Amino acid sequence: MPQMPTSMQAVALTARGGPEALQPLWLPVPKPASHEVLVRIQAVALNHLDVWVRKGVASPKLPLPHLLGSDIAGEIAALGEGVSDLQEGQPVLLNPGVSCGHCERCLSGHDNLCRKYQILGEHRTGGYAQYIAVPRANILPMPEGLNPIEAAALPLSALTAYQMVFDRAQLKPFETALVLAATSGVSVNLIQMCKIVGARVIAVASTPEKKVLALQLGADEVIDSSTDQVQAVKTLTGGEMADVVFDHTGADNWQQSLRSLKWGGRLVTCGATSGHEAITPLNWVFFKQLSILGSTMGSKADLFQVLQFVKQGRLKPVVGHVVGLLQAREAHLLLENRQAMGKVVLQVP
Ligand code: ZN
Repeated sequence: MPQMPTSMQAVALTARGGPEALQPLWLPVPKPASHEVLVRIQAVALNHLDVWVRKGVASPKLPLPHLLGSDIAGEIAALGEGVSDLQEGQPVLLNPGVSCGHCERCLSGHDNLCRKYQILGEHRTGGYAQYIAVPRANILPMPEGLNPIEAAALPLSALTAYQMVFDRAQLKPFETALVLAATSGVSVNLIQMCKIVGARVIAVASTPEKKVLALQLGADEVIDSSTDQVQAVKTLTGGEMADVVFDHTGADNWQQSLRSLKWGGRLVTCGATSGHEAITPLNWVFFKQLSILGSTMGSKADLFQVLQFVKQGRLKPVVGHVVGLLQAREAHLLLENRQAMGKVVLQVP
């Protein structure tokens, strides 16, 4: 067995602010505790969460330096005490949610409602580094046919999309779904999952390239984000409007999203890229009998279902950009400037 190095290359968040707050550092290789596994990281994908934490909008009291990065793929480097069902060298994908494992919510399969719920890279150390130690429960086998970069593109955004479509919206095959920001990390999964259900998908995108990608992923129609969204949905649905709107764009588009719903429609929100504070006319909500559903992540078990879709060839990871770990600042700018199409993935040496 090769000797384990004692230090590792990392890119750490050393302050709260712009991309310059990300600094290359050498850190000690973590030791796996009891019932933990040490993973040698090969790829880590970015999420908007990384930008929120960097800016201090999410988890502002986190001690620094901190390692971002929730979506991690690699291979097992060492096993902690009490882990006997895995082998060193085995390729793995990490589930980004960590929970207590013994409360009522954890035991009923709603671990993402656990009061001790943590996300790798947000509440605990993440994957902008060569190694990470995680609980055994967070280890999944690498999906067959995927390389580490493709696999890393999946967990957080696909889990988020899964819960939104199957649990919160409970989308039906005869329904129409409106998916905003069509080529974002979550939306590329939303579009594909809405099509797995068999629903009609209207996507909203801002550039010709993004529209083409949305259609390739299965969207039935695409609306240009510069046009009047409500009017466009009205025209496409013959005045019926959408049964479900999937939105993580936030305040800027909130009222348009509500107005794009039919009577009795559901709006599912999992984020607010353009800001958290939006005005909700309550008469729209009660008179049209709308449901506004919040969603964060999905349960650990949901990721098994997501990987089943991948195995069946019905869900494909969408990797837009691959850059080296030390180019993490450039990767953050791609996300922040909304230039990304699909996932931005850091390749770890
Ligand atoms: Zn719990």
